[in-house]
Amino acid sequence: MTQKYDVVIIGAGPAGMTAATYASRANLSVLMIDKGIYGGQMNDTAEVENYPAFDSILGPDLAEKMYASSTRFGAEYVFGEVQDVIDHGNTKTVVTDDETYEAKVIVIASGATHRHIGVLGEDKYSGRGVSYCAVCDGAFFKNEDVAVIGGGDSAIEEAIYLANLAKHVTIIHRRDTLRASKIAQKRAFSTKNIDFSWNKQTEAIVGDDEKVTAVKVLDTKENQESIVPASGIFVYVGITPNTQGLNKLGVLDDQGWVETDESMQTKVSGVFAVGDVRKDSIRQIAAAVGDGAVAGKLLFDYIQTLSDSQVEA
Ligand code: NAP
Repeated sequence: MTQKYDVVIIGAGPAGMTAATYASRANLSVLMIDKGIYGGQMNDTAEVENYPAFDSILGPDLAEKMYASSTRFGAEYVFGEVQDVIDHGNTKTVVTDDETYEAKVIVIASGATHRHIGVLGEDKYSGRGVSYCAVCDGAFFKNEDVAVIGGGDSAIEEAIYLANLAKHVTIIHRRDTLRASKIAQKRAFSTKNIDFSWNKQTEAIVGDDEKVTAVKVLDTKENQESIVPASGIFVYVGITPNTQGLNKLGVLDDQGWVETDESMQTKVSGVFAVGDVRKDSIRQIAAAVGDGAVAGKLLFDYIQTLSDSQVEA
């Protein structure tokens, strides 16, 4: 049987949970659907130092606090993987792997996922030394040598986190300048057991029958191959949008990100998008929360206009 809500939110990260807080506090019935645990990428984040009101807080702790706020006014949360979203005008249908929901408003808050680098050995050793989550797997490499691939905020921040656990961290980057924020760079440069391997293209992840032993790299300036020994390889080479199941809705750009205006409204009336999944997002927790507040407020106005037009008709 189809379950009906005023608002269905796809994704329960910071953006989705904030939209849920606002919408449920405005007395709307709200369901958050997530294919994983609420909190999204916050669960994979060590320390968060740029979220207002906290000098520093662990990502999973912030996720718990946001979840408590988001369900306080009655919003519900279920596990489910969205397969399709169909627009019927004033109502929308959301089809998950095991349920069908109807809503007046859909909020896409499905976030983004760490990209794979796509080299030989990556899939083979995934979970056997190759990881995309330092917070989840870092402890397995206590006092060992690890490598981090990438030069953005994720790579540098997680390398700093790993430096507290591992004996030594090598950051392998394909250029000789970092994309990460200056403060993160400064910290990494001053961390004793972090070294940089510049201008290195990752060619393969190598290992024995059981686990990873090294990364094979090519120096793009010298055109020379070398080996970086490591028992843990942490891949942070960017992110891709989680928009599977949304293709038919007509709200995605050619890379799969959702396009919105500044009201978080997509080009389909009654479909909003918030947080990292948005094309123009700056991909910060605080920004995701801001997006969620905007959508959570404006979707109420949209539902009011639907009710008004029904009264007039
Ligand atoms: P990102 O900023 O896109 O950086 C990806 C890094 O991986 C870049 O340095 C890139 O190199 C490198 N890379 C990409 N493809 C590669 C390949 N095939 N082989 C080797 N290296 C490759 O991704 P991110 O670090 O995951 O960050 C995503 C977004 O989240 C950013 O907007 C970031 O600012 C934000 N973020 C913010 C915080 C924070 O503020 N605390 C923390 C984490 C993330 P090039 O530099 O050469 O392109």
